Amino acid sequence: MRRKLIAGNWKMNGSFASNEALLSELRAGLSAGAACDVLVCAPSPYLMQCANLLSGSDIGWGAQDVSVHLSGAYTGEVSAPMLSDCSCTYAIVGHSERRAYHGETDELVAQKTLRLLASGLKPIVCVGETLEQRELGQTNSVVSAQLRAVLDVIDVDALTNLVVAYEPVWAIGTGKTATPQMAQDVHAVLRQQLALKNPPVAEKVQILYGGSMKPENAQELLAMPDIDGGLIGGAALKAADFLAIIQAA
Ligand code: PEP
Repeated sequence: MRRKLIAGNWKMNGSFASNEALLSELRAGLSAGAACDVLVCAPSPYLMQCANLLSGSDIGWGAQDVSVHLSGAYTGEVSAPMLSDCSCTYAIVGHSERRAYHGETDELVAQKTLRLLASGLKPIVCVGETLEQRELGQTNSVVSAQLRAVLDVIDVDALTNLVVAYEPVWAIGTGKTATPQMAQDVHAVLRQQLALKNPPVAEKVQILYGGSMKPENAQELLAMPDIDGGLIGGAALKAADFLAIIQAA
């Protein structure tokens, strides 16, 4: 039985004041502990605020992206060792918004994954198809190519530290959710692909679903055999909703 992971992706939202209110509500709501792993992925300027407010709690914190470079003249970039310095445990890579608005390729996402692993961070690798690709019947080939680029460059042993998030692009921030069966079908394809690399470890890799997950649909999505948690955008900004999703896991 895989432990579930509920991860919030705050995207470019928050302020010191609103984060403090949100995190204190989450801490209070989880004071008796959580039955799943819980994570918030905050904008970089707020990572140390998360460290200060969440240390000693059951809630981890992570980043939303990482530089492919280690250090040097890369203005505006944040490196994996810097995220480690902020005591992050995870970072998202390959989110569809990075792929769409910043031209990130499968190969770049794979290199970023390597950077995170080398710094002892767990990458949450996002894959997902657009509506057009789904309608053309390309879902499985698109997500498989995105995952393959990562699996091609990482060591077999590194699979233990990998998290995959299936996020259909057409479901992100739109209110449209994949049905539990649609999501399960893709998760099963992804797990089979992981198994080609390392069958026993593939069974342990957490594969998250992301795309308008909310309290109303979390339970049925999380009940599917290969859905091991959620990557939550909008609903992660409201303590009551995020706590309800954690409860459903
Ligand atoms: C996301 O951005 O990863 C996401 C799943 O967003 P939302 O939950 O708002 O669809």
